[in-house]
Amino acid sequence: MLELKRTTKRFVGGEVVTTALNAVSLRINAGEYVAVVGPSGCGKSTLLSILGLLDSPDEGEYWFDGRNVAGRRESELSEQRRGRIGFIFQSFNLIESLSVMENVELALEYAGIPAAERRERVAEMLGKLGIAHRGAHRPSQLSGGQQQRVAIARALVNRPAVLLADEPTGNLDSAHGDEVMSILEKINAEGTTIVMVTHSPEHAARAARTIGLLDGAIKQ
Ligand code: ADP
Repeated sequence: MLELKRTTKRFVGGEVVTTALNAVSLRINAGEYVAVVGPSGCGKSTLLSILGLLDSPDEGEYWFDGRNVAGRRESELSEQRRGRIGFIFQSFNLIESLSVMENVELALEYAGIPAAERRERVAEMLGKLGIAHRGAHRPSQLSGGQQQRVAIARALVNRPAVLLADEPTGNLDSAHGDEVMSILEKINAEGTTIVMVTHSPEHAARAARTIGLLDGAIKQ
């Protein structure tokens, strides 16, 4: 379902060229749960950006849903991304001026879902993640663990096939981190493909497969 073929990504800053991904080949099947690990700067976030169609490779191919999307324009990538890929990050990236409900609903507004259905789906998703009673709160009124649950609700409310998580437990204490990990396992058991970057060996071990990166390449 997601396949990189000798994918290379470089960043040019002045005279310095950094090869963030160096001819990476990788296949992730629908329904898999994969952890990506490796030292800081090895290319984990770059890999996630490319898998999530936020960025395009400089060389090689990226097959997403049976199409090679390498080299496509940003407008085409965002079209492909919509409704197919959800993201969660270490910093929850919630909008403070909106309530919990509104934060989740915004994802559906972007997708053009009518208001009545939006409200139904937001309520269902907040219920599923155990935060329905916090719907009217602002993000800062919640604990970190609750904020990450709101971010997960926002990522999943469009029912994406793939969830990409960049250190989703990085800002959480271990109890809240474990809670988020349990939620991810449940989501994966329901069929969502998950690719998660993590620094925690314990959390990586909870994924079905671990991919190690070093200097932009997959460690064998
Ligand atoms: P990780 O997520 O494993 O810490 P990254 O994917 O963020 O690694 O970065 C891989 C390499 O690419 C690093 O050397 C980083 O400095 C470089 N890099 C990442 N993004 C950019 C960018 N936008 N501009 C220049 N260099 C970048």
